[in-house]
Amino acid sequence: MNRRKSREIFLGNIGLGGDNPIRVQSMTNTKTEAVDASIDQIKKLYDAGCEVVRLAITSSASCEALGYIRSKLKADGLAIPLVADVHFSQKIAFEALKYADKVRINPGNFLHSDRNLLSKARTKNIANSFGAFVIAAKNAGKSIRIGVNQGSLDGYIIKNFGRSSLGLVESAVEFATVAVDRGFRDMVFSFKSSYVPSMVEAYEFACQRFDKIGFDFPMHVGVTEAGDGSLARVKSAIGIGSLLLKGIGDTIRVSITGDPVNEIGVAYEILQSCGVRKTMVEYVACPSCGRTQFDIEKTLRAIKLATSRFYGSGLKIAVMGCIVNGIGEMGDADFGYVGGLPGRIDLYKAGRCVKRAIDEKDAVNELVALISFGQES
Ligand code: SF4
Repeated sequence: MNRRKSREIFLGNIGLGGDNPIRVQSMTNTKTEAVDASIDQIKKLYDAGCEVVRLAITSSASCEALGYIRSKLKADGLAIPLVADVHFSQKIAFEALKYADKVRINPGNFLHSDRNLLSKARTKNIANSFGAFVIAAKNAGKSIRIGVNQGSLDGYIIKNFGRSSLGLVESAVEFATVAVDRGFRDMVFSFKSSYVPSMVEAYEFACQRFDKIGFDFPMHVGVTEAGDGSLARVKSAIGIGSLLLKGIGDTIRVSITGDPVNEIGVAYEILQSCGVRKTMVEYVACPSCGRTQFDIEKTLRAIKLATSRFYGSGLKIAVMGCIVNGIGEMGDADFGYVGGLPGRIDLYKAGRCVKRAIDEKDAVNELVALISFGQES
């Protein structure tokens, strides 16, 4: 698939959009002012592979806490971009520019616009308030996210376009135009909804509209308020995955209620399943049937454990119960572990059998040795 062409913007030293890998991000669920807990959670997110962390910024005190968190992380040698998530207060959005690498604002509550406001008065209102904000961002060398949410569109947009994809995109376009008119383009956009079909439609519509008018801004993709457990994972996989497969998305956030660290593994699984970023070892295993020559479940567990150290390699390892369909099904795997005869395993590399009829008790170690040799040579 062709990735939608977007401009590169920077969050600190990290590039987003353009040819950069699709970035994985998350958000802390600590009170930002609880600096030790926030730092601890950011470090855990970073260790899990998170590349950008957002924090809720609700007051001047949380702005200052963000500044402290940033300097403490820097002192500990951890340079992860921090994003200030600001709603309702324009004053706080300006303040946050001092401490954050990027500030996220929501047009729906940046303005508090009256639904009866006439179009002219509204345009003037945006030009004054948001115009001053983008000039401040430009002077500070910071990027911003314009995050439009279906649940928080402003009165004027709802009156004229409803809570529709059209409304989401119109809201983004009018803010983006103010920024572009002032020579500011370091922006990323999101069009979130908790209802997957609406969210997918809004991003597709936004990209069509943006591309038509030369707005090559990167897209931050996510399903908002996805809930918890398997439903949250399924919603994110379908919503984010559908867009990635169409080439849309420069950074993703999987939203799962609870510990945000749990979001990161799911994010990488979605990226890898869509074939857009390879980091994990990917396992392909047959479901097993009457032809299976060994205990697939137990063997898959043993292989996962023995090959976990190849994390980051993006390797695909196939575990197949027999040679009937196994060899064809694992055609694109880097390595294959296939039941040849009862108690005997054949090992494959890039579709070719390289070791035949190994004793099953030695086969996992032999597979690891084969992969290790490939990684070192
Ligand atoms: S690969 Fe072989 S053992 Fe596995 S499901 Fe297919 S036929 Fe059955």
